Amino acid sequence: MALHSGADFFGIADLTPVRDTVVAQGGDSLAEFTRAVSIGIALPDDIVDRLVQHENPCVAQQYMVIYNATNRQLDRIAASVADRLRVAGAAVLAVCASCRTDNDRLCGLFSHKLAARLAGLGWIGKSCLLVTRQAGPRVRWTTVLTNAPLLPTGEPTEQACGECRRCVDACPAGAFSGQPFRAEEPREVRFAVRKCEDYVNAVSHRMGCQVLCGLCMAACPHGRRLEDAQRLPV
Ligand code: SF4
Ligand code: SF4
Repeated sequence: MALHSGADFFGIADLTPVRDTVVAQGGDSLAEFTRAVSIGIALPDDIVDRLVQHENPCVAQQYMVIYNATNRQLDRIAASVADRLRVAGAAVLAVCASCRTDNDRLCGLFSHKLAARLAGLGWIGKSCLLVTRQAGPRVRWTTVLTNAPLLPTGEPTEQACGECRRCVDACPAGAFSGQPFRAEEPREVRFAVRKCEDYVNAVSHRMGCQVLCGLCMAACPHGRRLEDAQRLPV
């Protein structure tokens, strides 16, 4: 149903092993959800490739439009999937594709990347983005939480960044430590999210409108159609 509605990625994650992590981020009301339906839509390559010019007003506005439209499309798909599961008698919660619920920790109710990783859709890169084999990190995600007894679609994927540091070196805020992902470590070991936030706010202030950065996504060799495809890290 998700794929027929326009999603490019779909998977089911078993949340049972990460219940404490889920509750620590989103609260006790998430404890009843044992499965996550992970849904992703790939961003257009030509838009992402141009993010090296993210301070160009045309590039910035084009990306904002695509970014917001993709999030709205994800929310629509999630609402439909949640409705189908609800009618079947399951408890459901469609998590907003891009809504922050904690301004101190700078995070949302639930980590879409956690669900996608556990569903076997990709690995967490040194950029803290979910990196897929097919489209690299050039994907927006959403999640439907449920207690429906759905079969998980895969196992967590080993990270395949190797010696690559392109996202780390590309970040103008110096937000990444370069440490590879380890499930038992908090995000702060790899990513100073406040540095990213401050950089994006400063650029937005300078340009007089809300803009995004995305250089870490554009820098990753995975998902690129261009000559970089021959130089993937092993
Ligand atoms: S969006 Fe830009 S500032 Fe934020 S982490 Fe990525 S490269 Fe760094
Ligand atoms: S740019 Fe390199 S280090 Fe960063 S996520 Fe992609 S493969 Fe991993």
